[in-house]
Amino acid sequence: MPFREIAGHDHLKELIARAAVRGTLPPSLIFAGPPGVGKAMVALALAQLVNCLDPRTLGPSDLSDLSDLSDLSDLSDACGECASCRRIARDVHADVLRIAPGETGSIKIEQIREAIERAAYRPFEGRGRVVIIDQAEQMGDNAQDAILKTLEEPPNASTFILVTEAPDLLVQTIRSRCQRLRFGRLSPGDVAEVLMVSHGYTEADARAAASLSDGSVGKALEEGSEDFVEARGAALHLLETVADHPPPARRITGSMGLPGATKGKADRDALGQTLRALSSILRDLGALGAQADDRALANADLRPKLERLRRAFDADRTLRAFAATDRALNALDRNASPKIVADWLAFQL
Ligand SMILES: [Zn+2]
Repeated sequence: MPFREIAGHDHLKELIARAAVRGTLPPSLIFAGPPGVGKAMVALALAQLVNCLDPRTLGPSDLSDLSDLSDLSDLSDACGECASCRRIARDVHADVLRIAPGETGSIKIEQIREAIERAAYRPFEGRGRVVIIDQAEQMGDNAQDAILKTLEEPPNASTFILVTEAPDLLVQTIRSRCQRLRFGRLSPGDVAEVLMVSHGYTEADARAAASLSDGSVGKALEEGSEDFVEARGAALHLLETVADHPPPARRITGSMGLPGATKGKADRDALGQTLRALSSILRDLGALGAQADDRALANADLRPKLERLRRAFDADRTLRAFAATDRALNALDRNASPKIVADWLAFQL
């Protein structure tokens, strides 16, 4: 997948694309950042650009954050369609090596040795060799020792990319020999876009899942979509109900339809998800108070409803409700009864 089709990270993509074309890319790189934000995809896009038979220009419309940039003349991107790009996408290109933890969860020294051996020769079919080590923090000490020398003096025309969510687990000597690029979280809008375009989510499902994803497509996918819509609906309903009912009336309605009527695990999971949705909505209410635009909102698609809620939730109440929701989540994590947590929270909002 070429750079232009990868969501977010515009500045990093620009930096990498420019350096690759100019030949100034450091040969040993660490791509660090949260899981599920596209680090390995950017590494593959780089491998495609390096070896593409028919590169195209990367325009301002491909990098939305950079539209004010004046000099885009030397920004290139892989075509994504030539034989080389396709072979890399299918993971059968002789010069693009991907290493990932095996079934044991760790990267073995044999895997590293094989990559080093292959990297010692000139590229076989392409212009440059790219070795991508996924979850590089899973290299044991032996494997890290084995690759150290190669990272220090990489063979010609080779680029090593260590992809990791935990760069601090790499030994200091490796860290000091690699240039580190930091990947941030994606915006909720970017996550929703990926879910719709690449995973067939409907817009409602994508928006709901994105609002609880912490800026990670991986996390959104892990949780499944239907539950998100339900959880967010329940959270919104709760806030709308408490907004309309001052505390005495609330005593009658109890926990306001929050999941948690039984002690089952299903209820515990459902309540946890609803509480996370609640946090996300309350955070947006706080952001609305600070005049944030839609891009800063996790639940931008609910904006009219949020504006209405905002009348009942001033800054103080929003903050108190957010803190209470946080306490409720902690209690739930410590195995408190879902019913007790739900009842308690309904009176704190
Ligand atoms: Zn191509």
